[in-house]
Amino acid sequence: MDSFLVKICPDYCPKQLLKMLPSERLHLQTRLCAFCYADVPVHQASWQQAEVDRCDRHVFRFISECPNCGSGFRTPALWEEAGCDQCGLEFANMQIYQQLR
Ligand SMILES: [Zn+2]
Ligand SMILES: [Zn+2]
Repeated sequence: MDSFLVKICPDYCPKQLLKMLPSERLHLQTRLCAFCYADVPVHQASWQQAEVDRCDRHVFRFISECPNCGSGFRTPALWEEAGCDQCGLEFANMQIYQQLR
């Protein structure tokens, strides 16, 4: 099982996965605050807490799908580009949409 996952996903890390797993307290869709992302371009675990739906720094609600094409975000471990993998809209450029929600 482990070696299979390592093969299909070179970045697979059991520890990371375990950290992500306590699922009932996590929001299952990948979410992001575009404002935080513009500051520091990494996914933050705090965006996935089920009981929180807006960024405590920026007050805006998290976005969980691309505001341009409507597709969901990939698992952060698979983010290769800092944007929607369907239409290419950059996460940092989603700020305006986040403000409008
Ligand atoms: Zn934020
Ligand atoms: Zn898109």
